[in-house]
Amino acid sequence: MNEHPNYIRGKWVPSSSGKTFPSLNPATGKSIGTFQSGTKKDVEMAIEAAEKAQEEWSETPSPKRAEYLFEISRTLKKNKEKLAERMTEEMGKVLKESRGDVQEAIDVFEYMGGEGKRMFGHTTPSELKHKMACTIRRPIGVVGIITPWNFPMAIPAWKIAPAMVCGNTILFKPSSDTPRTAMDLVEIIEEAGVPAGVVNMVTGSAENVGNEIVTNPRIRGISFTGSKETGKWITQNAGIKKIGLELGGKNAIIVMEDADLELAAEGILWGAFGTTGQRCTAASRAIAHEKIAEKLEQLLVEKTKKLKIGNGLNKNTDVGPLINEKAVEKSIAYTIIGKKEGKLACGGKPLNTPGFFFQPTIFSRVKPHARIAQEEIFGPVLSILRVRNLNEAIRVCNGVEYGLSSSIYTNNIANAMYAIEKIESGITYVNSSTIGAEVHLPFGGVKQTGNGTREAGWTGTEEFSEIKTVYIDYSGKLQKAQGID
Ligand code: NAD
Repeated sequence: MNEHPNYIRGKWVPSSSGKTFPSLNPATGKSIGTFQSGTKKDVEMAIEAAEKAQEEWSETPSPKRAEYLFEISRTLKKNKEKLAERMTEEMGKVLKESRGDVQEAIDVFEYMGGEGKRMFGHTTPSELKHKMACTIRRPIGVVGIITPWNFPMAIPAWKIAPAMVCGNTILFKPSSDTPRTAMDLVEIIEEAGVPAGVVNMVTGSAENVGNEIVTNPRIRGISFTGSKETGKWITQNAGIKKIGLELGGKNAIIVMEDADLELAAEGILWGAFGTTGQRCTAASRAIAHEKIAEKLEQLLVEKTKKLKIGNGLNKNTDVGPLINEKAVEKSIAYTIIGKKEGKLACGGKPLNTPGFFFQPTIFSRVKPHARIAQEEIFGPVLSILRVRNLNEAIRVCNGVEYGLSSSIYTNNIANAMYAIEKIESGITYVNSSTIGAEVHLPFGGVKQTGNGTREAGWTGTEEFSEIKTVYIDYSGKLQKAQGID
């Protein structure tokens, strides 16, 4: 059967719409299966299932909930190769990167399982005698998880694992570009024996499924990763809920005159064209010191021309397709804009083959306020900007609305430390590209990249739990705080 149902209350069920939509292989443009066009009614059914499962799941001790996460991690590991191949077929990224995507899911389920064994609160003295004070963690309730397509397994896992271990029940809506990878993950959650109703999945459009999840008052928390525009819509329409937003980026790599240029060029290439530029942490700007800018540009162009574009399943491919036709059109549109704003150094064309391919593209001598240096293109388009010194580099780096990742290549410790202090971003790398987050460290951005949540690491459970403060008075009399007699 090539038609795939929704997952509600532990059962695979068709949508009430009776309609489906296809998921396309971006390397061929052909359908790999059809998925449910979910409705408001499906969302309501899933909320009901999640509400029913809530009490028992939240009463299950978190070290016991953790056991399910460990099992999910083990099953993902056993199936890693098959899952990665299926991911490349649906999302397009090259196979080794798909393996990395599955590995992040393996790691985060394992890490968050460990959090279930901790789930620490604080204890602190009361200001009164014979009274103690502490905090405990409580689940939020039913949470809506809405995800994009670029990390089709890792991002859902980054949210589902902490949400589960904190005792929430979940309604998960994946991107309509990658519903099969989402289904693969949910099948593994089912195989691990997670009780019915704890994780529910409804596929479908933003209008019919996403909007209902965001606005439904029975959903107590939203965890969203996607574009700034959608994040803004969610903030304005969700009502009073706990909301976590992980949005776009316009990340820069600064290269100082003392840097190892070979190393910097490798890092820029990986940051700009890895995942075909479709990472929130992609390096879409290289900010080069004027003394080395010419040399760096030569190196980058030389190396970029050698990159092999093709189906991500082929071993020799360096750069896979873009996710869909719209993404190719966006890269074409920005290339037209870029030609007016800078010098096209290489690339700039879609491939005349089936599938959604676009050449890795570099613009040089781009000014900081150019649109290609300001707006998130989410394709393989790099702008090189020139600066005179570190202060100017940091000003240019910070002169965008986003603040997710950043990097500096330098062999001068003072330059590195100053950049760490002054760059406005959630992540700064030194002598390494803007990509490569590890699951045991917090991940997130500042400014228009988000609303302050940090996923993964020891901070990852904060988004999915509420803190309850507890006072226990064992004095046997009425004691009043703040010195009131
Ligand atoms: P998108 O905002 O178009 O869609 C993301 C998800 O939200 C999809 O499931 C979509 O169906 C749903 N959606 C869209 N509109 C909605 C609405 N009004 N109500 C409810 N749901 C809605 O983003 P995308 O194109 O899938 O992903 C690319 C974007 O994601 C880029 O901007 C990228 O930077 C960002 N991203 C950020 C991070 C991060 O951690 N900061 C990670 C990956 C991707």
